[in-house]
Amino acid sequence: MSSNFIVAKFGGSSMKDAIAMKRSAKVALDQKANIVLVSATYGTTNQLVELSQIAQTSSWTNCQELISQIKDKHFKISDELNVDEKTKQELEKHLKRLEVLGRGIFLLKECSNRAYDALVSLGELMSSTLYTWAVKSESTNKEIEYFDIREVMKTSDDFKKALPNLEVIKKLANEKLNNSRNNTIYITQGFIGSTEEGVTTTIGRGGSDYSAALIAEAMNADILQIWTDVAGMATTDPRIVKHAKLINEITFSEASELATFGAKILHPTTLAPAQRANVAVFVGSSYEPNEPGTWIKVSTNSNPMIRAMALKTDQSLITLRTPKMLNAHGFLFEIFKIFNDHKISVDAITTSEISVSLTVDQEVIKNQNLIKDLESLANIDIEKNQTLVSLIGNNINHTPGLGEKAFSAIGDINVRMICLGASKHNFCFLVDGENGNEAIKRLHKSFIEV
Ligand code: ASP
Ligand code: MG
Repeated sequence: MSSNFIVAKFGGSSMKDAIAMKRSAKVALDQKANIVLVSATYGTTNQLVELSQIAQTSSWTNCQELISQIKDKHFKISDELNVDEKTKQELEKHLKRLEVLGRGIFLLKECSNRAYDALVSLGELMSSTLYTWAVKSESTNKEIEYFDIREVMKTSDDFKKALPNLEVIKKLANEKLNNSRNNTIYITQGFIGSTEEGVTTTIGRGGSDYSAALIAEAMNADILQIWTDVAGMATTDPRIVKHAKLINEITFSEASELATFGAKILHPTTLAPAQRANVAVFVGSSYEPNEPGTWIKVSTNSNPMIRAMALKTDQSLITLRTPKMLNAHGFLFEIFKIFNDHKISVDAITTSEISVSLTVDQEVIKNQNLIKDLESLANIDIEKNQTLVSLIGNNINHTPGLGEKAFSAIGDINVRMICLGASKHNFCFLVDGENGNEAIKRLHKSFIEV
């Protein structure tokens, strides 16, 4: 009998301490995962990023203090897990490297993206080392093998945001991880990869979900499990709306919109590989592994018009205006060429005869070269601190009365821009940052708490 091939990913909260690691080890074994990718222990990537910054600007004493915190956290876990000598030596090797790299950045007062990747990759290398031991200690009948994902996760050399090369990954994964089809469980890292020449890269913050999805696609897995600290995806952020409900199942299209438009639970890039390879995705809590969680699938039993809603804060609205646009062609092309040249992604767009408004992440507008390039084309106006509110569901662009219902729900909150029609699954609009939470509360009440 053939059983499901499962790739599981555990996030930082599932690697928080020795207890969390043991719990996550049991989950991986109970689930019969074939390959397990892990994030750095909770908060460690942030600490490593901070180290890369303060090493350039602050005293060595301050750097040492931060290094000690990272060391203490990992030694505490290794002591509590009672690791063997080999695991301890591996951990010490990574910690030594942490100190050397930190010192190097401190002395140079400079941290290239390449150096940054070498430094932050240590988070995943350490957690996976410790977690391998945790799984070994819990397992009775399986081969548990530590695997360095850099042997397989081949990427471009765009350090800090490297692009995985799926063809190569597929080939190498099937060569090197093939025993996962038999009795071996591989424990490995999310987030990190390497260039063709073997230089360490990372694929962008929060990228472990994406790593796991790529490995699932490469191995043609049946299921991708994303284990976190909440029991699945909710109808909206439960920190904003107390009555948010768990979503039992959701389609890939809706879940991608939800992730792109602000739900924090899944990295937006995760679903594309899973969808391409028809891998069902499960999101659950390693703290409550028996809760139903959320399944993301090609199709679902029910297809509600509004299934969920999300907020994307810290947006800026850029409006470009020029009479040259009147009856002209190629203007939109020129604008998007500029965004493309600067590798910037635009979320929502509306146009009129002589103007175009679009939203970008707030930090984008710090890019003076981009602003200069846009100004060479049109007059521009920037409104900061905006929030994009999205309603996500099915058949949204063909449902009469949706707009009326949505706008009467949000009442007196001013709407700055609307995008409706392009997607069956998304209706979004922009409000002043300070009104975002209230808009979501009102919409949730009207569309979901009924
Ligand atoms: N540890 C990395 C981060 O915090 C990657 C991940 O956890 O997904 O960004
Ligand atoms: Mg994450």
